Amino acid sequence: MTDGAGDGNMDGPGGGVAVEPLGDWRRTHLLGDLSAELDGEEVVVGGWIHETRNLGGLCFVVLRDRSGRVQVTLVKRKDGPLFSRLASLSRESVVMVCGVVQASEKAGMGFEIRPSGVKVLSVAEAPLPLGVADVVGADMDTRLDNRFLDLRKPEVSAIFKIRSTILEGVRDALRREGFVEVHTPKIVATATEGGTSLFPMKYFDRPAFLNQSPQLYKQILMASGLDRVMEIGPAFRAEEHDTSRHLNEFTSIDIEMSFADEEDAMGMLEKAIEGAREMVWRENQKELDLLGISLPEQKPPYPRITYDECVEMVSSRGLDMEWGEDLSMEATRIVAEEMEGFYFITRWPTEEKPFYAMPFEDRPEVCRAFDLNYREKEVTSGAQRIHDPVLLEKRIRDQGLDPRGFEFYLRAFRYGVPPHAGWGLGAERITMIFTQADNIRECVLFPRDRHRLVP
Ligand code: ATP
Ligand code: MG
Repeated sequence: MTDGAGDGNMDGPGGGVAVEPLGDWRRTHLLGDLSAELDGEEVVVGGWIHETRNLGGLCFVVLRDRSGRVQVTLVKRKDGPLFSRLASLSRESVVMVCGVVQASEKAGMGFEIRPSGVKVLSVAEAPLPLGVADVVGADMDTRLDNRFLDLRKPEVSAIFKIRSTILEGVRDALRREGFVEVHTPKIVATATEGGTSLFPMKYFDRPAFLNQSPQLYKQILMASGLDRVMEIGPAFRAEEHDTSRHLNEFTSIDIEMSFADEEDAMGMLEKAIEGAREMVWRENQKELDLLGISLPEQKPPYPRITYDECVEMVSSRGLDMEWGEDLSMEATRIVAEEMEGFYFITRWPTEEKPFYAMPFEDRPEVCRAFDLNYREKEVTSGAQRIHDPVLLEKRIRDQGLDPRGFEFYLRAFRYGVPPHAGWGLGAERITMIFTQADNIRECVLFPRDRHRLVP
C-alpha cells in the first residue's frame, strides 16, 4: 500500500485541497468493528469527517461510516504534514485513514486511531445545506431536498435498515409457505378498480396508466397454477391527499393464494408480519436503540371485529354512522380505543369494497373482505375474491365499470380457476409501525407526494 500523502495528487474543487484517487487502498474494517481489543493493530478505514476539534498542537477528527464513529488523534509535533492536511479539511469530506488502533483511557470510546497515512477522496463544500452533526432538527422539506445528507444521520438511515429487514422477513416467511415471487407490469391499459386515482401516460401512440395495484394480475396468476404468488413492487395512486400516511408512489407487498378464503389470507398476513417482527428483533437491535424505541410486543392471532360490531360500537358512543358507509376518521378512532395494536375489521359492506371482493352466499350485502389496522391506521386490505366469471362481470357492471375494459382479466376466469384470496400490505405503513415514525415520508427514501417530484 502506498502512502497517499504524496503521489498522484490532483487538485480538488474544495479550496485547493488535493483530492486523490482510490488507488489500491481498501478498508480493512468498518469503524463499528474497531475496539480497544485491537490495540496495536494496523487498520485502514474510510468515512466522512463528522467533526474536527483542533486544539493547536493536538487535533481530534471524528470519522463516521455506516457502522459508527471513531476518533482519529493527530499530534502536530509528530504528524507534521498529515496533521495540516486532515485538520484543515471541511466537515463531511471523505477520507481514508491508515493507522494503528491505540487503546487509550482518555479517548471517549477507550481507543483511538493514530494515523500514518491519509487519502483525501472528496472535499465537501462549505457551508453544508443541512448539518449532519447538528442536534437541532431541520424541517422536512430541507431534509428531503438534501436527502443524501439527511441519510448520513444514523437515526435516519436506521429506519431504512429496519425497512430492509422487514421486507426480508416478510419474503422469508412467505417463501417458507411456498409463495413464488413475481413481478407484474406497472404500465397498464386498464384501471384496477376504475376511478380517478390513476396517473395517465402515453404508451407510444396509445393511452396507458401507471398501475395502482397488482390486483388483476395476481388474480390472473391464480388461473395459471402458480398457486401462491407474492410481489413487492411500486404502486401509483393519483389521489390528491396530503396526509402523513399517503404517498403517490408507495411499495406494496402483495400476495394471492389459491384454494383459500379470507381467513386463510388473514392467517398468512399474521405469519408475514410476525416473520418481519422476529427478523427485526434479531437483526436490528442497534437501530432500535438508536431510535430509542422497542418493537410492538403483540403476537398473532390479532383480534378480529366485524364491520357490524364497529357500527354498533361507534353508535353506542354517540357518533352518527349509517350502515354501509366507510369508517370515518372519528369512527376509526373510537374503534382503535377499544382494540389497541393490530386488529382485523372483517365482513365489510359489499358496496364499500372493490368489485372483486367475494360476497357471502347467505348475506350478499356483506363480503369476505378485511382490513388490518394498527391503532388508527390501515395497514392492509384483503379479501377472498370472486372466481365465478359471471358474478365477476356482474359486479364490474354494478360498480359502473365497463366489462370490455376487463376482458383480458375476465378471460382468466373462464377456463378453470380455483377459489382464491389475498391482500396488499403497504411497506411504508408497516415500516412506520415498527419504527414509530409519525410521518410516512420518514419511511421512503425519495417521497412522491402532492408537492414532491424531485429529488
Ligand atoms: P387508505 O384507506 O389508507 O387510503 P386504501 O384502502 O385506499 O388505503 P388499498 O387500496 O386498500 O388502500 O391498498 C392496500 C394497502 O396499501 C393499504 O392498506 C396501505 O397499507 C397501502 N396504501 C394504500 N394507499 C397508499 C398510499 N397512498 N400511500 C401509502 N400506502 C398506501
Ligand atoms: Mg384499503
